Amino acid sequence: MSGPETQGPAPDRGHTASRRSDPGRLDFERENARLEAATPEERLAFAVETFGDKLLFTSSFGAGSGVLLHMWSRVAPHLPVVMVDTGFLFDETIAYKDMLAKDFGLKVEIARPTQSRDDFIWEHGADIQSRDPDLCCAKNKVDPLKPWIARSLGWVSGLRRDQSRTREHVAILLPTEDGPIKVHPLATMTADDVRTYVEKHAIPEHPLKSKRYLSIGCWPCTQPVADGEDERAGRWAGQAKTECGLHTFLKPKEG
Ligand code: SF4
Repeated sequence: MSGPETQGPAPDRGHTASRRSDPGRLDFERENARLEAATPEERLAFAVETFGDKLLFTSSFGAGSGVLLHMWSRVAPHLPVVMVDTGFLFDETIAYKDMLAKDFGLKVEIARPTQSRDDFIWEHGADIQSRDPDLCCAKNKVDPLKPWIARSLGWVSGLRRDQSRTREHVAILLPTEDGPIKVHPLATMTADDVRTYVEKHAIPEHPLKSKRYLSIGCWPCTQPVADGEDERAGRWAGQAKTECGLHTFLKPKEG
């Protein structure tokens, strides 16, 4: 059974509620070197141990989301997974979220923009995604998540190095100047590794995957991908934009 779906962050239980080690004392160079040789599940377990209930996990419930959601359900079933519903998601993505939440027993929290989709379009125009996708992502994707980010010390997401050129140097642990430490347990997994994991655990596919939607965000900004293209080539196709801003708005800490 899936847990209840909620619309806002869970009440703050204090910075030390279930944390067992001090994230402020992490030696990132040493931990990253050690975690590079660890399995994705071991990296996730380390993050749960380090950050406790101050660990945020966000998922788009897109084509490649099943693997980390499955791992999360095994390593951190007591912690929620947060999905941003921009108002522009495919119906298939909502159905996929409902299915995986039930199959894996996930507690899903939904982050939504304060302005409704219709009001947003009324104010900014129906072509806003082609004119100013950064504004649209900032208002509908990044801003809704900020209350969760503000209460978190660690932030897990499913970035992988082989997804695109912009992600090829993703660190497993990435401290930021102005927010939680980012955690990327799947950083070293390849598309083949993902396929192997999906087959081994019989993880259901996103309904649009068979139509060559290999990376799935909002419907105005997502297209199928041709053979030989990057997994993320169908996102904001024809525009300079490659990331929604969720994974780039926090400034990485230098050194
Ligand atoms: S992905 Fe497209 S529709 Fe979704 S928030 Fe960004 S610009 Fe808007």
